[in-house]
Amino acid sequence: MKRLTYLVLALVASTASYAQGDPDTVAKLVEEGKGHNQARLHLETICEQFGSRLTSSSYLEGAQAWAMEQFKAFGCQNVHLEKWGEWPVGFDRDRSGQVGRMTAPIRRNFQFTTPSWTPGTKGLQKGQAVMEPKSMDELNKNKSKFKGAWMVMMPRAGEGIPTREVRDAVMEAARKAGIKGTVQGSANELVITSGNYNITWDKLPKDVRITVRKSDYTAITDALNANKKVDLEFDVRQQFRKGPIVINNVVAEIPGTEKPDEVVIVSGHFDSWDGPMSQGALDNGTGSCVTLECARILGTVMAKPKRTIRFILWSGEEQGLFGSRQYVKDHAAEMDKISAVLVDDGGTNYWGGFVGLETQIPFFQKSMDTLNEAFPTLPMKWRVSARMPRGGGSDHASFNAVGVPGFFTEETGVSDYNYVHHTQHDRLEAAINAYLVQSSTAAAVTSYNLACADQMLPREPKAGG
Ligand SMILES: [Zn+2]
Repeated sequence: MKRLTYLVLALVASTASYAQGDPDTVAKLVEEGKGHNQARLHLETICEQFGSRLTSSSYLEGAQAWAMEQFKAFGCQNVHLEKWGEWPVGFDRDRSGQVGRMTAPIRRNFQFTTPSWTPGTKGLQKGQAVMEPKSMDELNKNKSKFKGAWMVMMPRAGEGIPTREVRDAVMEAARKAGIKGTVQGSANELVITSGNYNITWDKLPKDVRITVRKSDYTAITDALNANKKVDLEFDVRQQFRKGPIVINNVVAEIPGTEKPDEVVIVSGHFDSWDGPMSQGALDNGTGSCVTLECARILGTVMAKPKRTIRFILWSGEEQGLFGSRQYVKDHAAEMDKISAVLVDDGGTNYWGGFVGLETQIPFFQKSMDTLNEAFPTLPMKWRVSARMPRGGGSDHASFNAVGVPGFFTEETGVSDYNYVHHTQHDRLEAAINAYLVQSSTAAAVTSYNLACADQMLPREPKAGG
């Protein structure tokens, strides 16, 4: 009785798992992905040769040119840049010479950042630290102190903090008095990379704005409160680039053998925030290197998917998913033919599975079984959701918004993403190689099987339909 039940279940399971890729090819994908993985190599190049890749920077453009050469070398076709927009002003931050420190009363090197699309210093700028005055009176009494000084800002809010209006007026007067710039403290030991791209060449920001981590800030203010003379020096090298700056995504393909107009997309955003220390390693060098390595693995074993597998390295993600949103608009007529979009943008952890509909499970289960056998300590599983996730803050959301199934891979593992994400710690040393091996192998097996399945991936039933 029991045996019979198992037999029936087995039959149901096998008919429910739709025909997928050729098993020999899948075995080769696993062997190549597990045995000869090069994801780490791609990531090293991305981080060390180019570093952070701010949208509108020449570093992003350089990295995109390099990635295109890689896709071509892996045997991809139709490798190209696809424009999604133009910005009036670009921004580059030098890779070396970034200095921020206190030289008196004690010597202390800072961990610091400045917003992107703001000016740097003209060389090393030494100056005395002066505390932000609480009123115009206080400023006027000590006006001579402000010329050539670094003004240390009070916290944004709290007891005894003057109103916005007072602070704005004081700031304007301090500018006129000739401060070199402002120094503010971070909320904790992380300094956050960010910036406002929405500027024009005619009205470029003028203030040098430095943020140091909390302990550095406390070292400055403790010394000031003890009436000690505090000397600071900063050499912040960054430049605006006169636009229009054309901004692109990178696209590459393995054309499908039977249904080339139907597409499975494997992707990650290539752009990153930047800071004096950040390399954009985990956000999102890792997702980019997984996308590249997926293409290499499929190319190396000469996989012949029935549908086209398209690799896309997005840009403008950090400022609002711009690259993927515009892609969805520009390709509106083709959205019916995009089976699935995989997005790797959760850091260095491994692909722990997907969130999606119950009806989609059979299209992924075989891949997950194969991968769980290959990487038994890094299990993948499916999380059933009644609807495709709408939010999510990465490029899959642009596709789910128009009904194309987009998956943000469930990053699982020991890496503490919050410590790294948009901070000075987003560097190569935070990457975990074993996870990149699994992720890129998972990308190759999953995309190949989806591209060879009997049908396109089921979609969420339309509302009211
Ligand atoms: Zn990201």
